[in-house]
Amino acid sequence: MNIKISNVANLPTKYGLFKIQSFQEGQKEHLVVFTQELPDVPIVRIHSECLTGDALGSLKCDCGDQLDFALNTISKEKGMVIYLRQEGRNIGLLNKVNAYALQDQGYNTIEANHQLGFRADERSYEIVNTILKYFQIEKIKLLTNNPEKLEQLQNIEIVERLPIIIEHNQHNKDYLNIKKNKMGHLLWLRELKQKKYMLVM
Ligand SMILES: [Zn+2]
Repeated sequence: MNIKISNVANLPTKYGLFKIQSFQEGQKEHLVVFTQELPDVPIVRIHSECLTGDALGSLKCDCGDQLDFALNTISKEKGMVIYLRQEGRNIGLLNKVNAYALQDQGYNTIEANHQLGFRADERSYEIVNTILKYFQIEKIKLLTNNPEKLEQLQNIEIVERLPIIIEHNQHNKDYLNIKKNKMGHLLWLRELKQKKYMLVM
C-alpha cells in the first residue's frame, strides 16, 4: 500500500502543545499526535477512531476517556498517540450505528457485529509498524488494555505495558464486561467504597 505522509504541524491543545502528522493509507487518513521531545523509549497509545466516544461524549464505550487519558499522559511523560481511522472496530460509522440500533434491541456488542456479518473486531494495526519505523522508534512503552495490539506489532520491542485506568458508568458497564470476558481485554472491575467502579489492569 502506498502511504502518503504530510508535513509536521503544531497543535496547541488543552493538554499542551503537540505536533501532528498525517499518514494517508488508501481512503484512511490516520493522525500521529506527538510531543516535541520524544524519548528513546516513548509512551505510545494506538487509538482507533470512535466518533461517538471521542467527539460526542458517548457513554456507551470508554474510547473518549481512554483518549483523554492518553493525551494527558503523553503530554506529561512524552510520547505519541497514533490515531487510526478505523471507526467502530473498523466496520465504519454507518455499520456502527446499525450495530448500536441492534444493541438497543438487546443484542450485545459482539452479537450485533455478527448480525451484520462482521467479526467482533475487524481492526488491523499494520500501519503502526510503518509509522513507528518512520519515526525510527524501536522500543516503546505501550499504553493499552488490549493484548491483541501487543501481538500485531512486529519489530517493535514493547518494554512495558501501561494500563489505562478509567472509571466506568452505568451505560458502558456491560460493554466493558464483554470486552473483558469475551474479547480478552485486561480489565478488572473493582468495586470501590463509594459504589463506583474503577478499571485497573
Ligand atoms: Zn467507542
